Amino acid sequence: MNNKHYDILVVGGGISGAATFYEFAKYTNIKSICMLEKYESLATLNSKGTSNSQTIHVGDIETNYTLDKAKITKRTAKMIEKFCLQYNLQDKVMFKHQKMALGVGEKEVEFIKNRYNEFKELFPYLELWDKEQLKELEPLLVYADKDKKVERPEPIVAMGARDEYTTVDFGAMTQELAKAGQKADPEKITDIYYNSEAEYIEKIGDKFKVSTMDGSVYTADFVIVNAGAHSLFLAHKMGYGKDMGSLSMAGSFYITNNKYLNGKVYMVQNPKLPFAALHGDPDILCDGKTRFGPTALALLVLERYKGGKSFFQCLKTMNFDGSIMKIMWDLIKDSEIRNYVFKNFLFEVPGINKGLFVKDAKKIVPSLTPDDLEYAKGFGGVRPQVLNKTEKKLMLGEASINPGNGIIFNMTPSPGATSCLCNAERDIRYIVDYLGLEFDEKQFLADLTE
Ligand SMILES: Cc1cc2nc3c(=O)[nH]c(=O)nc-3n(C[C@H](O)[C@H](O)[C@H](O)COP(=O)(O)OP(=O)(O)OC[C@H]3O[C@@H](n4cnc5c(N)ncnc54)[C@H](O)[C@@H]3O)c2cc1C
Repeated sequence: MNNKHYDILVVGGGISGAATFYEFAKYTNIKSICMLEKYESLATLNSKGTSNSQTIHVGDIETNYTLDKAKITKRTAKMIEKFCLQYNLQDKVMFKHQKMALGVGEKEVEFIKNRYNEFKELFPYLELWDKEQLKELEPLLVYADKDKKVERPEPIVAMGARDEYTTVDFGAMTQELAKAGQKADPEKITDIYYNSEAEYIEKIGDKFKVSTMDGSVYTADFVIVNAGAHSLFLAHKMGYGKDMGSLSMAGSFYITNNKYLNGKVYMVQNPKLPFAALHGDPDILCDGKTRFGPTALALLVLERYKGGKSFFQCLKTMNFDGSIMKIMWDLIKDSEIRNYVFKNFLFEVPGINKGLFVKDAKKIVPSLTPDDLEYAKGFGGVRPQVLNKTEKKLMLGEASINPGNGIIFNMTPSPGATSCLCNAERDIRYIVDYLGLEFDEKQFLADLTE
């Protein structure tokens, strides 16, 4: 049992917690920092390499991003690349693949062409590929019958890049961030405790006291809760964020028996749907076999494959009342969203799931059959989508609760792994000011930004 005091205490050892731990250890003058992780090692939930799509979301091929949003995500994504290059993690943790956004049919072809023209200045490496070029780059997108070389009937076009870093094992990167944080400055105390689930967090005077399930007690000048889907649960326990609920959107994947795609293939996003359109990605942890997904299914859990108390915690965190019911109703009264929800439910039902999923995935690879893929057991995670009860809306992207008294809670649905270093930067800027610390901004910007 521990009883220690730290300048900064981070709750949660996923990629968000590890990025915060790293940046504080490396770029501020704190004397001590501690990270508490509930499980036996870092990144066993959403940041694990098989839980997410392993994509560095830059904003160039994600058609749900506006140009203004892409200007922000470009910087955010570059930080991932710069960190990995700084620690020589290319081709070990971070990889290059070709990547593209594919338009299928007249309307989407027009959309991709316009988007290419709009985005090529921000991303000068982008290219526009017609069917002939796609035959070379990604032949399975073109043929309805791959053996007889019969082409699919619809027009297709893609915008993409050939030589960019696209893919990260975010689980391995979490370990690297923690390791680099612990090595950053031998003068600093940089403790990480495993099997240490924060149970209660209390404000005592101008400090915070964090009690863990194993009976240890830690105090800190500032606490950052980066506990993924559990962050809002812990916030509610302290009486914060009561104007929010959380909807756990599980994402699953299907994996092919072989390598089908050379790179990442994203599709045009239906703007009505709040979750990313299905895409195909080479899985760097499964010999480059193609992973299709993710699906989107509301589940009453805060974490997948671990069981335990997460069902009851999820019910509490949803914070169900009339406003939540209204948000749900507004979503499902739209027939497109309703069909999408129902279809995604069926994607999980053994017996019929594969056939139905293949129908959708055929938009990417038209020759795909149910025999080509399997439900990827044990893959996928949970996106904690925040429900704003005041505005009665589902919030897309990340959310933070900062009551202004020395604690911050971060909720990180997709693309939270890509934005981990940038989110940590935001928190650090606030906290150094709050605690009167120093931040080596010059070095930080030189190391992690262009
Ligand atoms: C299907 C899917 C696909 C995705 N694809 C991408 C993608 O391609 N690119 C991308 O950038 N993002 C993607 N994401 C999102 C990304 O995976 C998450 O945003 C990111 O991993 C969140 O990291 P985190 O550290 O905030 O949370 P997590 O990884 O969930 O980590 C939270 C940590 O907190 C710990 N914890 C919880 N409660 C406590 C407690 N009480 N005390 C101590 N520790 C606690 C947990 O054990 C865990 O280790 C995807 C997510 C899903 C589900």
